Amino acid sequence: MAIDFSFPEEVQLVVARVRQFCDEVVRPAEEKIEASGESREVLIEQIIQMRKQAQEWGLWLPHMPEEYGGMGLGHVAMAAVSSEAAKTGFGPFALNAQAPDEGNMHTLHHWATPEQKKKYLKPLCNGHIRSCFAMTEPEVAGSDPTLIQTKARLEGDHWVIDGHKWFISGARGAKFAILIARTEDDPEVPQAANSAFLVDIPSEGWEVVRDVETMSGGHNHCEIRIKGLRVPKENILGGRGQGHLLGQYRLGPARLAHCMRWIGQAEKALNMTIDRALHRYAHGSLLAEKQGIQWMIADGTMELYQCKLMVLHAAYRIDSGLDFKSEVSMAKHFVANALNRIIDRAIQVHGALGYSLDTPLAKMATQARWARFADGADEVHQWRIAQRAIEAYTKTGSVTTAAGDLPL
Ligand SMILES: Cc1cc2nc3c(=O)[nH]c(=O)nc-3n(C[C@H](O)[C@H](O)[C@H](O)COP(=O)(O)OP(=O)(O)OC[C@H]3O[C@@H](n4cnc5c(N)ncnc54)[C@H](O)[C@@H]3O)c2cc1C
Repeated sequence: MAIDFSFPEEVQLVVARVRQFCDEVVRPAEEKIEASGESREVLIEQIIQMRKQAQEWGLWLPHMPEEYGGMGLGHVAMAAVSSEAAKTGFGPFALNAQAPDEGNMHTLHHWATPEQKKKYLKPLCNGHIRSCFAMTEPEVAGSDPTLIQTKARLEGDHWVIDGHKWFISGARGAKFAILIARTEDDPEVPQAANSAFLVDIPSEGWEVVRDVETMSGGHNHCEIRIKGLRVPKENILGGRGQGHLLGQYRLGPARLAHCMRWIGQAEKALNMTIDRALHRYAHGSLLAEKQGIQWMIADGTMELYQCKLMVLHAAYRIDSGLDFKSEVSMAKHFVANALNRIIDRAIQVHGALGYSLDTPLAKMATQARWARFADGADEVHQWRIAQRAIEAYTKTGSVTTAAGDLPL
């Protein structure tokens, strides 16, 4: 039997080292940031310190090949590393494996020309710069990229771009953007209308209008006005009309990388639930002894187990060069929803304390909410999953191939 759910020893060692790094470097740094009232000066000082230490600990850039200064881990190993690092707020960032840079690195590694890699990918991997990915627009549904209105037209040696984007994570302070814009008026298929561009920041015609305030505060998700932006012809990423393909390529692994980090957050919330239930006493017994609370713990435990299996299997399919669209869709939908349920139950068990800002749960809940619609809304994933299930049944008489194509 070839099914083996244990990790090779070298991966176990890396995960143990990430755990130790988070305990000894990341958590103390987070405490200093919090104690300073989140002062920008302390934040920057601690981030530089954490990143320097990650390099010294040999944990820098786990997802990238060694030629870029990374550890060369595949997606399965990254599931273990990212979910461990994400039990802290800054863990993934300390390792330079955070969104959107992680996804942008994979994209550039796959699609960029040697010159583009030298100019954009190298410094991104070194941690000298940050990047952003600019696709969503306020005027049209982000769920349907064929509606994108930002337009690029070729004028001599430059593309001239006009448009409007928002919710562009990390845009303020980024040194470049991967920008998706419409280049084809009459594409063969609607999905082939868009192209991707590498945009240097700052550039004339690229204006950060504001950091959009969200239910969990401002986190550098910016609104961008693009007016007469001139991008050199050679800064197209991939070919003309390949923006959708590139987006799909980027979003598959990037969605799964989100799931890995969400597993870390879900496990943290479940641990907190149990810890609280073991210490809170009401109506003659500890909360942990009450069946109503045990059901919540049981549901969370089963969900966490499902999350881990789904993410590991989807990661295995990516690493094995197998088609992974359905598995990533199912994992993304399931983990996003499980995360929200697990955090919500944790708040319930903590009572007023859970609703306060004295524990991280309230912030975790407002952060988790976007997981259900960003990078593919629940309903869009369900639509695609159902399409593939119907197609599998129609072609083969069974849904098996669409349900993970497992040997059962
Ligand atoms: C924290 C955060 C960070 C983000 N970072 C980035 C970023 O860095 N770069 C970037 O480009 N974008 C980013 N986004 C935007 C994100 O990708 C979009 O929110 C997402 O693609 C959905 O688009 P929309 O918000 O326009 O919602 P819409 O497309 O308008 O969808 C709204 C709702 O309509 C429903 N819906 C849509 N389609 C269907 C369907 N076919 N069937 C049934 N129901 C449907 C769903 O319930 C969906 O939630 C970010 C968003 C958030 C919240």
